[in-house]
Amino acid sequence: MRRLLERIFEEFTPNARVLVAVGAATPFLVVYFVLHGMALRHEEFRQGLHAGPVVGLQALFLLCSAINLGIGLKLWPRRWVNEPADDLTQLACLSIGLAYTLLCMLSGTFTSGTNLILVGVLAIGLLLFELRPMVVAYLVCAALLVGQDIAVIAGWLPYAPALSEGVFPGGKPAWWFVWWRQYVLYAGWAVMIGLLLFLLARLDHLHENLTRLSYTDGLTGLANRRRFMDLLGTELARQARQGQELCLLLIDVDHFKDVNDRHGHHAGDAVLRDLGRILMASVRTPTDLPARLGGEEFAVVLPDTRLDEARRVAERLREQVATHVFQDGGQRLRVTVSVGLVAARDMNLATLLQQADLALYRAKETGRNRVVEAVERAP
Ligand code: GH3
Ligand code: MG
Ligand code: MG
Repeated sequence: MRRLLERIFEEFTPNARVLVAVGAATPFLVVYFVLHGMALRHEEFRQGLHAGPVVGLQALFLLCSAINLGIGLKLWPRRWVNEPADDLTQLACLSIGLAYTLLCMLSGTFTSGTNLILVGVLAIGLLLFELRPMVVAYLVCAALLVGQDIAVIAGWLPYAPALSEGVFPGGKPAWWFVWWRQYVLYAGWAVMIGLLLFLLARLDHLHENLTRLSYTDGLTGLANRRRFMDLLGTELARQARQGQELCLLLIDVDHFKDVNDRHGHHAGDAVLRDLGRILMASVRTPTDLPARLGGEEFAVVLPDTRLDEARRVAERLREQVATHVFQDGGQRLRVTVSVGLVAARDMNLATLLQQADLALYRAKETGRNRVVEAVERAP
């Protein structure tokens, strides 16, 4: 189910989404058409209905079903073609919306559960269509409903023009009308609840995607600076509470500008992607957090790690990079990294980063391709 929803949200073209909406709404039109047809043929039911408006409604249902069928046939061959289908989308929204609006108006705006279906079916459109055609359809349908309401209050139109006094023999609603009303109500609820769950699933999916994107570096797939800062802050606070040790590696590619200059930006990007993979593979998951802070600068947070262990991790990492042959197209190239290493002892975030920066700076100054530990300054 989840997989199907993801497909609809992510892979379906606008055409395919119109097809889904038309396919979901048309069965309801057909059910109403059949039920009204049966009611008109039944002696007892017919007395409760004004045949004229009901027949008019039947004609409208047929017309809308035909329009939907036509849209379906036209879009089916192009369902996977990614193109905007503005006019057909608008037509589908309007025909579905108008059919249910008129049904609602004819059987009484406020006492009819069709209201729920109307809202529900239009919501199908909201979820599947673009916003603009939905807004147009909503405005047209809402104007009709409000217009009818005003006409009823002013006495120009009867309330529920499709129903006659026969619905209330002896002042009480006829048994079949009660059943009909209940059917409409529950069908409406079913559609509404289904759509609500659909909408919540979509929100959940979007939220998950947004969270993942906002914490991920686009080039390497590693955590980005924001996620790194968040986690480092959390880990520092935990360390302060529990007295756990924590180390930080700050990593910068050596002479990376030369890599770009000599091999091109594309090769530079390939090196950064490979570096991301090496970082990911050489730390403990899920505790350690490798991140790309920006440009050719990376970092690894090593929670619950003593300085000597962190030194080994950093040294192994440096060596893995130095011996790795990076490839881009036919080009083979090597790079090295410099690493600043710091163990956080009663430090705040700013001091920790500053210390790591200083260590990295000294690694660069003293020849690059090396790990340098931060020296603690006298308090
Ligand atoms: P150093 O050893 O002192 O660190 O020298 P460097 O050349 O690596 O340092 P510098 O900071 O001067 O240059 C970093 C270069 O990294 C500059 C920029 O062209 C390159 N760079 C930054 N971000 C990206 C990126 O996303 N892709 C590519 N291909 N290059 C990048
Ligand atoms: Mg550099
Ligand atoms: Mg740099």
